[in-house]
Amino acid sequence: MALSMKKSTDNDILSTYANSLSEEAKRRYTVKLLYNRGTCSLPDPYHLTENWSRSPDTWPDLTFGDIYLYLIDTPSLFTKESMKAYKSLDAYKYVLSGHVQEVISHQIDENCPYMTLKTKVTPSQRARDKPHEPWVYLEKASGSVYCAHCTCMAGLGEVCSHVAALLFKVEMAVKMA
Ligand SMILES: [Zn+2]
Repeated sequence: MALSMKKSTDNDILSTYANSLSEEAKRRYTVKLLYNRGTCSLPDPYHLTENWSRSPDTWPDLTFGDIYLYLIDTPSLFTKESMKAYKSLDAYKYVLSGHVQEVISHQIDENCPYMTLKTKVTPSQRARDKPHEPWVYLEKASGSVYCAHCTCMAGLGEVCSHVAALLFKVEMAVKMA
Protein backbone atom coordinates (compact mmCIF):
# COMPACT_ATOMS: atom_id res chain seq x y z
CA MET A 1 0.00 0.00 0.00
CA ALA A 2 2.78 2.40 -0.89
CA LEU A 3 0.30 4.76 -2.48
CA SER A 4 -1.41 5.44 0.79
CA MET A 5 1.87 6.88 2.06
CA LYS A 6 1.51 9.70 -0.42
CA LYS A 7 0.22 12.91 1.10
CA SER A 8 -3.31 13.53 -0.09
CA THR A 9 -2.31 17.03 -1.19
CA ASP A 10 0.50 15.82 -3.48
CA ASN A 11 0.09 16.86 -7.06
CA ASP A 12 1.31 14.58 -9.85
CA ILE A 13 2.08 17.42 -12.24
CA LEU A 14 4.48 18.99 -9.73
CA SER A 15 8.03 17.93 -8.88
CA THR A 16 8.93 16.29 -5.60
CA TYR A 17 10.51 19.62 -4.72
CA ALA A 18 7.29 21.57 -5.27
CA ASN A 19 5.26 19.00 -3.40
CA SER A 20 7.65 19.36 -0.46
CA LEU A 21 6.90 23.08 -0.10
CA SER A 22 4.53 24.43 2.52
CA GLU A 23 0.92 24.70 1.39
CA GLU A 24 1.19 28.46 0.94
CA ALA A 25 4.48 28.22 -0.98
CA LYS A 26 3.12 25.41 -3.12
CA ARG A 27 0.03 27.42 -3.95
CA ARG A 28 2.17 30.36 -5.04
CA TYR A 29 4.40 28.06 -7.06
CA THR A 30 1.38 26.64 -8.88
CA VAL A 31 -0.12 30.08 -9.49
CA LYS A 32 3.05 31.48 -11.02
CA LEU A 33 2.99 28.71 -13.64
CA LEU A 34 -0.46 29.77 -14.87
CA TYR A 35 -0.85 31.71 -18.12
CA ASN A 36 -3.50 32.73 -20.63
CA ARG A 37 -5.56 34.37 -17.85
CA GLY A 38 -5.13 31.37 -15.63
CA THR A 39 -6.64 28.90 -18.07
CA CYS A 40 -3.39 27.07 -18.89
CA SER A 41 -0.53 25.86 -16.76
CA LEU A 42 3.14 25.68 -17.70
CA PRO A 43 4.95 22.47 -16.72
CA ASP A 44 6.99 22.53 -13.52
CA PRO A 45 10.57 22.73 -14.91
CA TYR A 46 11.88 20.56 -12.05
CA HIS A 47 9.46 17.88 -13.20
CA LEU A 48 10.43 17.88 -16.90
CA THR A 49 12.90 15.06 -17.39
CA GLU A 50 13.15 14.69 -21.17
CA ASN A 51 13.89 16.81 -24.24
CA TRP A 52 16.13 19.41 -22.62
CA SER A 53 18.44 21.08 -25.13
CA ARG A 54 22.02 22.19 -24.62
CA SER A 55 21.94 24.38 -27.73
CA PRO A 56 21.45 28.13 -27.33
CA ASP A 57 20.11 28.36 -30.91
CA THR A 58 16.49 28.47 -29.80
CA TRP A 59 16.87 30.97 -26.98
CA PRO A 60 14.71 34.08 -27.34
CA ASP A 61 16.31 37.48 -27.65
CA LEU A 62 16.55 38.27 -23.94
CA THR A 63 17.87 41.81 -23.51
CA PHE A 64 19.20 43.74 -20.54
CA GLY A 65 15.96 45.74 -20.68
CA ASP A 66 13.91 42.55 -20.19
CA ILE A 67 16.02 41.60 -17.17
CA TYR A 68 15.81 45.12 -15.75
CA LEU A 69 12.02 45.26 -16.02
CA TYR A 70 11.56 41.88 -14.42
CA LEU A 71 13.95 42.45 -11.52
CA ILE A 72 12.58 45.90 -10.76
CA ASP A 73 8.92 44.95 -11.11
CA THR A 74 9.17 41.84 -8.97
CA PRO A 75 9.44 42.16 -5.20
CA SER A 76 13.11 41.48 -4.54
CA LEU A 77 16.40 42.86 -3.41
CA PHE A 78 16.91 44.61 -6.74
CA THR A 79 16.40 48.35 -6.98
CA LYS A 80 16.90 50.90 -9.73
CA GLU A 81 20.10 51.95 -7.98
CA SER A 82 21.51 48.43 -7.74
CA MET A 83 20.63 47.72 -11.37
CA LYS A 84 22.47 50.84 -12.41
CA ALA A 85 25.57 49.24 -10.89
CA TYR A 86 24.66 45.78 -12.16
CA LYS A 87 28.26 44.78 -12.65
CA SER A 88 28.78 44.91 -8.89
CA LEU A 89 25.78 42.65 -8.19
CA ASP A 90 26.46 39.16 -6.83
CA ALA A 91 24.38 37.77 -9.68
CA TYR A 92 26.64 39.32 -12.31
CA LYS A 93 29.78 38.19 -10.48
CA TYR A 94 28.46 34.61 -10.29
CA VAL A 95 28.43 34.52 -14.09
CA LEU A 96 31.88 36.04 -14.55
CA SER A 97 33.45 33.78 -11.92
CA GLY A 98 32.02 30.64 -13.51
CA HIS A 99 29.60 29.82 -10.67
CA VAL A 100 26.73 29.43 -13.14
CA GLN A 101 26.78 26.00 -14.75
CA GLU A 102 25.59 25.11 -18.24
CA VAL A 103 22.18 26.52 -19.12
CA ILE A 104 19.72 24.06 -20.65
CA SER A 105 16.40 24.90 -22.29
CA HIS A 106 13.07 23.30 -23.04
CA GLN A 107 10.57 24.45 -25.68
CA ILE A 108 7.59 22.77 -23.93
CA ASP A 109 5.63 22.38 -27.19
CA GLU A 110 5.02 24.26 -30.43
CA ASN A 111 1.85 25.92 -29.22
CA CYS A 112 3.21 27.10 -25.90
CA PRO A 113 4.16 30.81 -26.04
CA TYR A 114 6.83 30.31 -23.38
CA MET A 115 10.00 28.27 -23.04
CA THR A 116 12.01 27.51 -19.95
CA LEU A 117 15.71 27.69 -19.11
CA LYS A 118 17.43 26.32 -16.06
CA THR A 119 20.86 25.90 -14.55
CA LYS A 120 22.69 25.31 -11.30
CA VAL A 121 24.54 28.01 -9.39
CA THR A 122 27.27 26.99 -7.01
CA PRO A 123 27.08 29.58 -4.29
CA SER A 124 30.63 29.32 -2.99
CA GLN A 125 33.98 27.70 -3.55
CA ARG A 126 33.02 24.86 -1.24
CA ALA A 127 32.15 22.02 -3.56
CA ARG A 128 30.16 20.28 -0.84
CA ASP A 129 27.54 23.04 -0.77
CA LYS A 130 24.45 22.00 -2.68
CA PRO A 131 24.02 24.19 -5.77
CA HIS A 132 20.91 26.34 -6.09
CA GLU A 133 18.71 25.54 -9.07
CA PRO A 134 17.00 28.54 -10.68
CA TRP A 135 14.61 28.31 -13.63
CA VAL A 136 12.95 31.01 -15.71
CA TYR A 137 10.18 31.08 -18.29
CA LEU A 138 10.68 33.50 -21.19
CA GLU A 139 8.16 34.51 -23.80
CA LYS A 140 9.42 32.96 -27.05
CA ALA A 141 8.38 35.84 -29.29
CA SER A 142 9.68 38.77 -27.25
CA GLY A 143 12.23 37.45 -24.76
CA SER A 144 10.26 38.97 -21.86
CA VAL A 145 10.69 37.22 -18.53
CA TYR A 146 7.39 35.62 -17.55
CA CYS A 147 8.18 33.95 -14.24
CA ALA A 148 11.07 32.44 -12.32
CA HIS A 149 11.92 30.35 -9.32
CA CYS A 150 14.90 29.05 -7.36
CA THR A 151 15.43 26.32 -4.78
CA CYS A 152 16.96 28.86 -2.39
CA MET A 153 13.65 30.66 -1.97
CA ALA A 154 11.59 28.18 -0.03
CA GLY A 155 8.97 29.21 -2.55
CA LEU A 156 8.19 32.57 -1.04
CA GLY A 157 10.55 35.03 -2.67
CA GLU A 158 10.14 35.65 -6.37
CA VAL A 159 13.62 36.68 -7.41
CA CYS A 160 17.06 35.92 -5.99
CA SER A 161 20.63 36.39 -7.17
CA HIS A 162 20.64 32.93 -8.75
CA VAL A 163 17.66 33.70 -10.99
CA ALA A 164 19.31 37.00 -11.90
CA ALA A 165 22.59 35.17 -12.61
CA LEU A 166 20.79 32.77 -14.96
CA LEU A 167 19.21 35.73 -16.78
CA PHE A 168 22.53 37.56 -17.07
CA LYS A 169 24.23 34.45 -18.44
CA VAL A 170 21.54 33.98 -21.09
CA GLU A 171 21.60 37.67 -22.01
CA MET A 172 25.38 37.58 -22.47
CA ALA A 173 25.16 34.46 -24.65
CA VAL A 174 22.35 35.91 -26.79
CA LYS A 175 24.32 39.13 -27.25
CA MET A 176 27.42 37.24 -28.42
CA ALA A 177 25.51 35.04 -30.89
ZN1 LIG B 1 18.29 31.39 -5.55
